[in-house]
Order: sequence, then structure tokens, then C-alpha cells
Amino acid sequence: MAEARYELVDIILSLETSENEEARKKAICRKLRLKPEHVHEFRLMKHSIDARKKLIKVQMRMEVGIDGPLPNKVKSTKEYPSLSGGEKRVVITGCGPAGIFAALRCIELGAKPIIVERGKDASARRFDLGPIMKEGRVIEDSNYCFGEGGAGTYSDGKLYTRATKRGPVRDVYETLVAHGAPERILTDAHPHVAQTYCQIWLRHCASRF
Ligand SMILES: Cc1cc2nc3c(=O)[nH]c(=O)nc-3n(C[C@H](O)[C@H](O)[C@H](O)COP(=O)(O)OP(=O)(O)OC[C@H]3O[C@@H](n4cnc5c(N)ncnc54)[C@H](O)[C@@H]3O)c2cc1C
Repeated sequence: MAEARYELVDIILSLETSENEEARKKAICRKLRLKPEHVHEFRLMKHSIDARKKLIKVQMRMEVGIDGPLPNKVKSTKEYPSLSGGEKRVVITGCGPAGIFAALRCIELGAKPIIVERGKDASARRFDLGPIMKEGRVIEDSNYCFGEGGAGTYSDGKLYTRATKRGPVRDVYETLVAHGAPERILTDAHPHVAQTYCQIWLRHCASRF
């Protein structure tokens, strides 16, 4: 019997067939020049849609277990130490993404973060956007840019970065998944992180500070 191994392979399928497991398997076999019986299992690692032309294509990176299973998937969990109250305190200004991640890092390092935020919480903040739209009046401390969640909380929620070399981007996605975002954001290119998930994440994180 052949020795089990696994490989990464990029396949491209049409939008119509891209969710079909048989079509995925066929494309994998074609690309790796394998007979179907050698493909034990496969797992989606990356998913992106190319809609620049009339025929929409879906590009996928697959991890393929050949003649044996894939290694177990590592589940995104974030374990934080419990804080007793006697730790060093760190004051963080602003409850935007940077402030929240700084606070989580403090907990990882065993310090107690205290976030000071000038605006209202994410739900209350919603009502302060009305005067901007209706009267052109900006409430200074609570608006599109200021308040819990930071700037962009009321955007379409498409989280992305153009940075490819800076910072642990994957770690950010894993932190969001560990706090309730769908696992799909770990494989999708330019994942869409719905505002609801951001709010769950905020509440979840806030309960630890
Ligand atoms: C309208 C809009 C839409 C956006 N849409 C997207 C998107 O769809 N996808 C995406 O990836 N990025 C988006 N962005 C960019 C994204 O929001 C920013 O990159 C991100 O918010 C920066 O995070 P931050 O924590 O550095 O700063 P901010 O998010 O700006 O957070 C700073 C926080 O500090 C608080 N603060 C400021 N001054 C004080 C003070 N003196 N005392 C106490 N608190 C204070 C503010 O209220 C705010 O909560 C958008 C930005 C805007 C403005």
C-alpha cells in the first residue's frame, strides 16, 4: 500500500461547480495526476472569486490527503489567563480595533487593561448617526468614527488589509473566529466580517477586561 502524504494544490472552477465536491475532487485529481481512489480527503484552505470577466471563476487552495487522512484541523481557540485584580494596570485610549487587540495582548501578558472610550457603546451609537444624515449635525463624541468599535463599525463590514508582509493577519482572523465569527473567514479572500459578529466579538472581549 502506498505511503500516506498530503499536498497543497490550487484549482480553478466555474462559480456554478465550485461548491460541488465531485467537481472539486475531479479537478484535484487532474491537477495532481492522481486516480480518484488515492484521494482520501481534501480540505479548503483558501477561497477567492475572480469576477473580472463574464465567466466568473473561483480559485481554491486545497489541502489533499493522499492515500491517508489529513492531519487534524487545529481549532481556533484563544485561552486567556484569568485576572485576579492585583495585576499591573494598563490604560488604553480608544476602543477601536487597535485598542481591543492591545487589551487582549495585555491579558495575554498578565496585565489588566482599562479601555477609555470617548464615544458610546456600539448599539447606542447607532442613534447618534441620525443627526448627521438628517440635519448635517455631528455629535462630537459619538458618530461614524468615534464610539465603541471604532471607525468603520457602521461600514459594510468588509474587513481587509493590503498589507502582505506586516503583522500577524492570520492571528487577527483566528481571534475573531475564537470569539464567534464564522470559520469561513479563515479561508475566504477579503472576508466579509458582518457587523453582528464584530459586536459579538466586542461583547465577548469586553467581558474579559
Ligand atoms: C466610514 C469608515 C468605513 C470603514 N470601513 C472599513 C471596512 O469596511 N473595512 C475595513 O477593513 N476598514 C474600514 N475602515 C477603516 C477602519 O475602520 C480603520 O482602519 C480602523 O478602525 C482603525 O482602527 P484603530 O483602532 O486604529 O482606530 P479607530 O477605529 O479610529 O479607533 C479609535 C477609537 O478611539 C476613540 N477615541 C478617539 N479619541 C479619543 C479620546 N481622546 N479619548 C478616548 N477615546 C478616544 C474613538 O472613539 C475610537 O473608538 C473604515 C473607516 C471609516 C472611517
